[in-house]
Amino acid sequence: MAEQLIISISGMRGIIGENLTAAIAAEYGCAFGTFLRKRFGDSKRLSVCIGRDSRPSGSMLTSAVTAGLCATGVDVVDLGIAMTPTVGVMLRELGCAGGVVITASHNPIPYNGIKLLLDNGIAPPKSDAELIRQTYFDRAFSPVGSVDCGKVRWEDRSNDVHIEKTLRIAATEAISEKRYKVVLDSVNGAGGPAGKQLLAALGCEVIAVNDEPTGLFAHTPEPTEANLQGLCEVVKNEKADMGLAQDPDADRLAIVDENGRYIGEEFTLALAAKYVFSKQTGGKAAANLSTSRMIDDIAALAGASVIRTAVGEANVAGAMVENDCVIGGEGNGGIIDLRVGPVRDSLVGMALVLSLMAETGKTVGQLADEVGGYVMLKDKFRADSEQAGRILEAARQAFSEAQLDTTDGCRFDFPDGWIHLRTSNTEPVMRSIIEAKGPEAAETYASRVTEVRESIVG
Ligand code: MG
Repeated sequence: MAEQLIISISGMRGIIGENLTAAIAAEYGCAFGTFLRKRFGDSKRLSVCIGRDSRPSGSMLTSAVTAGLCATGVDVVDLGIAMTPTVGVMLRELGCAGGVVITASHNPIPYNGIKLLLDNGIAPPKSDAELIRQTYFDRAFSPVGSVDCGKVRWEDRSNDVHIEKTLRIAATEAISEKRYKVVLDSVNGAGGPAGKQLLAALGCEVIAVNDEPTGLFAHTPEPTEANLQGLCEVVKNEKADMGLAQDPDADRLAIVDENGRYIGEEFTLALAAKYVFSKQTGGKAAANLSTSRMIDDIAALAGASVIRTAVGEANVAGAMVENDCVIGGEGNGGIIDLRVGPVRDSLVGMALVLSLMAETGKTVGQLADEVGGYVMLKDKFRADSEQAGRILEAARQAFSEAQLDTTDGCRFDFPDGWIHLRTSNTEPVMRSIIEAKGPEAAETYASRVTEVRESIVG
């Protein structure tokens, strides 16, 4: 498993016991603290709030990053085990200069990571991320003397604060009247306690599975169809109204319908948007370029438009803030509602989808069938950067009839579907995402992409 420690825009990710150590985490904390003090100046005392998912290595990394921050004169508010979106909510609630999330999201237990957020709740933009990275590599830290060292305090209201904000955007009365029976699978990540608390506050009968935040994941943690067969079974056996699955840091939400059918993470954003746009005409939504066209159809019905961004949460959140978007997110089940916070949030997903069900009186399966009809095909293949460039060039010629967006690789839009080709930031692979009305059209686009690819890499 000898892999490199990855230091990217959104932070650092590695394997505990191999390349992500306490010493590295402490120095990364020093780098972030130094960056924040430069950014805000020394005139006021700064604080950073820090939360961790439930991985067993989380305490160790939290302590190490906390030490680094305190060494540079920054106070720390420790939220303990907290969902990624909760850190985004609390840092703004507490007026912190930044936030740190200790999580490796859906990666297996041996992994962990350090994700940084600025005072607006969004990951640092590229230029700031580069500054932090360089400060870390140069060890250009600004330690303070004894009396100025940061202090740590613990905060245990964070789930309550987050849930209260979420309840304000939900049709709480309508949902409560329905007494929905909901199976929640939190994969023993950070989301179990808050997920149960929110659903109970919405009057749901909650059947919680894998709800202990032990970090010992009960199944492969990414909330995909293959990993959620157990949840589908429980929904069927319990004759529940729906199944909900969170990833370990609870920023993503996948849905299982009343028949135990995994309807897929793409539908979480589509249904959330459908509810938001049932309340207003016009306005804007934001989604990354790899996200289903369902959100465009839904927005169009409300006279609204969709801004497409490069892949990556910070890109979507940034576009939402800039354009005052009423809803946004990514096709991986990450829903953002700025009324709660600029971070992908499984609680927001639950609240909005249940609101849509309650107000329409329809089941989640019926709602999914209404907005669906698309087929999405995802693929990835090896291509180094030179090959990737040639593939994109060949694709531009092959798909010259399409509308082209080059914000992030190439996205080709056709009347009945689209193709998105982009390179990975972390490995020499190219991803192809294709969506079209019906399986035949999707297969046709897939074979055209294969033709382009084979003309370059064989
Ligand atoms: Mg996640």
